[in-house]
Amino acid sequence: MAQNSNPAPHEGSAVITAQGNLVAPTAEALGGMSGTQNVNDMSRSFALTTRLDSIIAWGRKNALWPMPYGTACCGIELMSVMGPKYDLARFGAEVVRFSPRQSDLLLVAGTITEKMAPVLVRIYRQMLEPKYVLSMGACASSGGFYRAYHVLQGCDKVVPVDVYVPGCPPTPEAVLDGVMALQRMIATGQPRPWRDNWKAPEYV
Ligand code: SF4
Repeated sequence: MAQNSNPAPHEGSAVITAQGNLVAPTAEALGGMSGTQNVNDMSRSFALTTRLDSIIAWGRKNALWPMPYGTACCGIELMSVMGPKYDLARFGAEVVRFSPRQSDLLLVAGTITEKMAPVLVRIYRQMLEPKYVLSMGACASSGGFYRAYHVLQGCDKVVPVDVYVPGCPPTPEAVLDGVMALQRMIATGQPRPWRDNWKAPEYV
């Protein structure tokens, strides 16, 4: 069936001009309705009040771009969070990047050895501001059961962690809960002194 690609405007609708301006449709286009009347209808339809920092935070929390740093079994569990069953896309964080320069959420998933620490810090430094870190699982958060000289006893020794997700491995639900906690933190603009006072360790 043929479709009308240029339908007539309706009452309460607006028209975007070629210059990108939002205007009320003409009375002629509305079949005799006055322009003033329609502007009033339009304002009822489109009114939205907010603060600039609130709407920026809203956009930010719903468009996190993760950089997965998966080194062990937690990395496999993280894959299921991205998969169709748990579907991180529902929270706007499905655009997984393997380039730190295109990411703002570092997902540390797995054991971090002392040797890897400088690499983790370099990746964190290259990420976009404002950036966030989620530590997934016992190994990333505390070294887990690797109480050994070669394993970093928590990635917060070298990068500022915003959310810790417990478990070995954490369930996908727990990871989603961690992402939602981070979203609440972003939406409410919570202070992040661990981030503000962060300094890279001298040895990295
Ligand atoms: S926390 Fe458990 S599941 Fe995760 S990397 Fe460590 S040993 Fe593996």
